[in-house]
Amino acid sequence: MTAAVVPGQADRSASPIGPGRAGRAGALGVLGGGQLGRMFVHAAQAQGFRVSVLEPDAHSPAAAAADTHVVAPYADAAALAALQAQCAAVTTEFENVPAQALGQLAAQGMTVSPPAAAVQVCQHRVREKRSFERAGVPCAPYAVIETDADLAAAAAAGLFPAILKTATLGYDGKGQVRVDTPAQLAQAWQSLQRPVCVLEQRLPLRLEISVIVARGGDGSLVQLPVQQNLHHDGVLAVTQAPAPDVDAALAQQAVAHAQALAQALDYVGVLCVEFFVLDDGRLVANEMAPRPHNSGHYSIDACDLSQFDLQLRTLVGWPLPSPRQHSPAVMLNLLGDLWFAPGADLPHPPHWPAVLALPGVHLHLYGKTEARRGRKMGHLTVTAATAAQARATALQAAALLGLPAF
Ligand code: ATP
Ligand code: MG
Repeated sequence: MTAAVVPGQADRSASPIGPGRAGRAGALGVLGGGQLGRMFVHAAQAQGFRVSVLEPDAHSPAAAAADTHVVAPYADAAALAALQAQCAAVTTEFENVPAQALGQLAAQGMTVSPPAAAVQVCQHRVREKRSFERAGVPCAPYAVIETDADLAAAAAAGLFPAILKTATLGYDGKGQVRVDTPAQLAQAWQSLQRPVCVLEQRLPLRLEISVIVARGGDGSLVQLPVQQNLHHDGVLAVTQAPAPDVDAALAQQAVAHAQALAQALDYVGVLCVEFFVLDDGRLVANEMAPRPHNSGHYSIDACDLSQFDLQLRTLVGWPLPSPRQHSPAVMLNLLGDLWFAPGADLPHPPHWPAVLALPGVHLHLYGKTEARRGRKMGHLTVTAATAAQARATALQAAALLGLPAF
């Protein structure tokens, strides 16, 4: 292995990280215990690493798969010291807590990716939009609301119909209110308890796509194919790759924007950028995630390098050849709603064998014992020789599960 050196971080050649090494040199850390962490753990372990997960919840998907579980809040000083003692490098699966924890670890000379500063940008919609603008990537017209004066200015900014979004901690459509007219704005802000918000013009969407890029410490950039995403109630429901309604020029533009953002952020790791394709064909960035993304899960089964392999490679300084998609794929998200059959009293898992009898179905469940409506329990990726076959089988799987056609 040639150890890559990340600007501003410890020289990796001085303390090489490698699979199968004893002690710290063969162990990696993850902040966060969710399903993204679990799939990273699987990829890292498959390639010979041991993994420690820092997660306060005693029962979490990633910790259940990890070699070691440090049970503590993400910013707990003793827990971060433990992670530093155990692991040669640290990544995150969750953007909402660890920026300062990542920063602390990096300041102590630890190999950390993604960089804390980039995570901090992604945690805050205002910073995120400013970084889109700086990188020359178009985003929805918006106004920032922090004070009553901002509220009045935003009401007069010609953004209606609009969506009011909290600047921090939003996910899966939470922390968002649709605002049709200026007169509704004050009440909408009140309903969110007046946090810092972004008021965004509601755009006419033809479709939604996302791009996952990986950037190494040496600045090398690769990407997964552009994905086409369908949301239900603000939550991702279906991802198709290749994207059926995206031509080569549009895909190239999306990749160029995502690469520009990764460069502008001096990013190291896996970055997902979500885009809207407008009715008039224009491409507009929505938001980005400093980590693998739900829309990239198909890459586990359909590509020769998954988004989690890319996360691992960027973290340990391994080479980044271009990933190749070897099978067209459709991913269906499996939310807890599927566990609640109409008329049943108690939650009950869907009848998996019926779905698994279909060709090319890859079932992924995240080990969450309690099903709740809206909770991401797993996903299912259908691969096939052609995109038409993958779609046809995915539609059969959806029908068996009681999911809407797409
Ligand atoms: P995620 O789970 O992806 O983090 P989120 O809660 O952060 O979601 P967004 O991605 O900002 O929220 O919005 C969720 C969905 O709402 C989008 O995928 C899109 O369907 C719709 N949406 C958001 N902003 C706009 C907009 N400006 N115009 C039209 N539709 C929008
Ligand atoms: Mg989103």
